[in-house]
Amino acid sequence: MKTSDFVTFSKLPVQERLEQIAQAAGLTQEETAILQNANSLSMEKANSMIDNVIGRYSLPLGCAVGVVVNGREYCVPMAFEEPSVVLGVSYGGYMSAFTGGVFTSDTGSVMIAQVMLMDIPDIHSAKNKLYEHQAQITELCNAQDPVLVSFGGGMVGLDARVVPSAVGQMLVVHLKVDTKDAMGANAVNTMAEAVSPYLEEITGGTAYTRILSNLAVERLVRARTTIPQEVVGGESVVDKIVITAAFAQADPFRAATHNKGIMNAISPIVMATGNDLRAVEAGAHAYAAIHGQYTSLSTWEKDTQGNLCGTLELPMAVGIVGGATKIHPTAGIALKILGVQSACELAQVMVACGLLQNLSALKALATEGLQKGHMPRHARNLAATAGASGEVLEKIVEQMVAENKINLEYAKELLAQYGA
Ligand code: NAD
Repeated sequence: MKTSDFVTFSKLPVQERLEQIAQAAGLTQEETAILQNANSLSMEKANSMIDNVIGRYSLPLGCAVGVVVNGREYCVPMAFEEPSVVLGVSYGGYMSAFTGGVFTSDTGSVMIAQVMLMDIPDIHSAKNKLYEHQAQITELCNAQDPVLVSFGGGMVGLDARVVPSAVGQMLVVHLKVDTKDAMGANAVNTMAEAVSPYLEEITGGTAYTRILSNLAVERLVRARTTIPQEVVGGESVVDKIVITAAFAQADPFRAATHNKGIMNAISPIVMATGNDLRAVEAGAHAYAAIHGQYTSLSTWEKDTQGNLCGTLELPMAVGIVGGATKIHPTAGIALKILGVQSACELAQVMVACGLLQNLSALKALATEGLQKGHMPRHARNLAATAGASGEVLEKIVEQMVAENKINLEYAKELLAQYGA
């Protein structure tokens, strides 16, 4: 599929869209049937995933097309409820494809587990003793997860800091673990708990907290793209986007919404692939405040030719094994549609989509505003809420948009008029 085909794709009936994606990804008949079945997650599986299960909750699964990352084109499955975002990613992909798409890099797949120790009078000496025992600590951690080690993962580093707190000095130990294709929370939590008695023995302290940090600064993804000035809409649009982005850098009230827009693309991919949404969101927002003031995760600037250049950098702790990635039937199919071979590749596509969605949102904000593009979709939601369907729904949407009178009361009135 060409990046310019995203509009055509969006206008296809659902079944045809599914057929195109199924063909491109080589989905089996069983897999396409799972995508169409709201109950594909069995009660039994659901009950094994969380506590006190009483049912299941289904969401739409959309697919952004024409996303080019590092020269490869991806179809990107997204599970969530917000209108306009899937097309925003595709439109961003279309604009960025003029210069080869989005280019990304990552810092690897290292997670940090924290062990916090207290009640240590000679806390600075204790800190140094930990480094002296790094080999033994590593051995003990790695012994917890031979499977991870067999895939080339395991503990790769140690850091210790003395941190003042309201209740006294804390010795905070960071166990850095390469979790490879797993998100790694369970893996590193197990290591932190197992190694704590040994850390107590070395330091003479008491271990109070043993858990991973969601501020995964050793698992960063960086993305960049350049949009030709004429594709963005001219010099004044480039300038307005740069100014709108600078506003987000300067003001945390704006930055919160700007970053929410970036996560509008990332979180639905996290959901679709069975990853931990809360972990990714926590990491992103903590990273946005890492220098003391909450700010924008992206930058937008103008190059010497007047083109628009965007970058995005954030932690991306996601996996293609472990957690719910292999339990939820749709998650496995979403990964197959993406065709990613590693957790790092998945993370890179996610961050690329965050940048593309940010681009589309900034362009709309800097020009016609968000609502114009959003309103037809909102009208569709209102018509459906009023009880309309099929052709009647289409007529109601068309009329509400044409008259710029988009509210639930009017949708109900039109539904009554059309005699449905
Ligand atoms: P997991 O324990 O289910 O799977 C990871 C394990 O898979 C590894 O430890 C390894 O033994 C094995 N494995 C097989 N093939 C592998 C490969 N190619 N690369 C790496 N490992 C491979 O899951 P996890 O990834 O350790 O933890 C993720 C889960 O932890 C998520 O469900 C998340 O919600 C949950 N969790 C999150 C937090 C948090 O974010 N604060 C805290 C606790 C638990």
